[in-house]
Amino acid sequence: MAGEPQADCLFCKIVAKEVPATVVSESETTLAFRDINPQAPTHVLVIPKAHYADAAALAAAEPQIAGDVLREAGEVAVGEGLGETGYRIVFNTGSGAGQTVFHAHAHVLGGRGLNWPPG
Ligand code: AMP
Ligand code: ZN
Repeated sequence: MAGEPQADCLFCKIVAKEVPATVVSESETTLAFRDINPQAPTHVLVIPKAHYADAAALAAAEPQIAGDVLREAGEVAVGEGLGETGYRIVFNTGSGAGQTVFHAHAHVLGGRGLNWPPG
């Protein structure tokens, strides 16, 4: 069923605490944890606890939870001291765009100069 945990999904396993993660914050609907391979001084992933393959699927099915993810991303950025300097929220969508984990997640990146357009 839509949103249900998937047995073969790494981020569902992190939600279930079957795989460890460095948790930054948690809400009823979201979890924020540090990326294991950080691309910037701050690199936090914010995920919905419910399983959706990507951000668009999440927003289509659960717009309120999609909003929760965005709010949490902003709160994490402020908590990491990026409120003044700025930060980037990225949702890679599809393997051609670099998505490797097919459980929706926002990358929150900051703490260094961020080029635009990204590579
Ligand atoms: P994406 O390539 O956009 O799907 O992002 C997946 C992200 O998950 C990558 O930045 C990985 O470094 C990160 N990642 C993979 N495994 C883990 C893990 N066990 N804990 C934290 N982050 C992870
Ligand atoms: Zn999942």
